[in-house]
Amino acid sequence: MRLSPTEAELFEALREIPVIDAHEHLVPEAVRLAQRVDFSILFAHYCCADLVSAGMAPADYQRLVGDQDLSPEEKWKLLEPYYPMIQHGSYARPARIWLKQVLGLDELTADNCREVSESLEEGNRPGLYQRILRDMCHIESALVDNAEHHAEYDMELLKPLWRITQYALGDSVRAYRAEGGLDSLDDYLDWMMARGEALLQTGAFGLKLFCFPYARPRRDEAEAVFRAVQSPDQETRLTWTDRAPLLGAVCDRAFELARREHLTVAVHSGVWGDFRESHPCHLIALACAHPQVRFDLFHLGMPFVREAVLVGKMYPNVTLNLCWNTVVSPELTVRMLDECLDLVPLNNLIVFGADYRVAVEKVYGHLVMAKQAVARSLAKRIDRGQMDVAEALRIARLWFHDNAVAIYGLSGRR
Ligand SMILES: [Zn+2]
Repeated sequence: MRLSPTEAELFEALREIPVIDAHEHLVPEAVRLAQRVDFSILFAHYCCADLVSAGMAPADYQRLVGDQDLSPEEKWKLLEPYYPMIQHGSYARPARIWLKQVLGLDELTADNCREVSESLEEGNRPGLYQRILRDMCHIESALVDNAEHHAEYDMELLKPLWRITQYALGDSVRAYRAEGGLDSLDDYLDWMMARGEALLQTGAFGLKLFCFPYARPRRDEAEAVFRAVQSPDQETRLTWTDRAPLLGAVCDRAFELARREHLTVAVHSGVWGDFRESHPCHLIALACAHPQVRFDLFHLGMPFVREAVLVGKMYPNVTLNLCWNTVVSPELTVRMLDECLDLVPLNNLIVFGADYRVAVEKVYGHLVMAKQAVARSLAKRIDRGQMDVAEALRIARLWFHDNAVAIYGLSGRR
């Protein structure tokens, strides 16, 4: 991307700044290294949405990223009809940044897909996370939401959160019943808290929640959902809104731990599946009911970005975290950062979290895009004479590093 002189000066100055990656789902490195990788890993995770939307059959997408027996050439044949439709989209850009800046290739083609695959496989060896996250990206640590592997992380680098949304799912209630749990919501919430305490001993750096329509839960309604989720048949018919009474009861209880341990609650909002269900304005009731709990609202609730910014502005226990936003749309992110400068105190904003599960290579391109977005929005203020370069860099350091350290208490927590 060609930048203006001021944008380029800022982007250059941001090249080596320390960064906190404020949202990932990364598996532990050992789990990643156990997988064989090829070029398709560059299209893992959310490129799925664009490829399927462009017409790729979901089963073909699964073969592309999941079938270890297909050759790179066979995988390219699956991707080729749809790649031209998504290659200029921002979900694909971190892959193309890796191709260009790391491998020196202008584009992925039938001729180079094997070479790209071999180089990714060659890099898939111990030290992968250190090389990409620390050496290439200057990431001090990353907050990780990945409930399956909580205890297996190198916690210097990857700092797991306790995902509490899952306690409104039948799988959790069935696991509780399988351990001999009674048909009692109170008992179930005690069991949940014991798990939270155990994770805290291992290392937990926050809680993770899905934004939902909260109201002080009525006992009978919460108990009805507690029973309904135990039947797979009934559970498939439940929306998140239907589960709200149980999730409300889960939050009211789990937040005891958040208050006691000063753990921030990260809240996913918007931008996946039926995004109406996780509208950022749902957070208002929850934040007001729990004024001593700090909430970090994710993704600007895309597409409800202005509502999300206002929630961040008006509620002192809510901060805004623009993780994932830059690859959903860099243009929208540049515009919203400009509006956030008008609306939101500088210490209430985090601008980076890459949100990947296995494709750690894409964190690099995502960070390049986030730095470009920040450089573009701050350069506009400099060129208009509203601030100088030193002030812009002070703001960028808050947004990329210091605010995440303060919001998640990362300097003091083991
Ligand atoms: Zn996420």
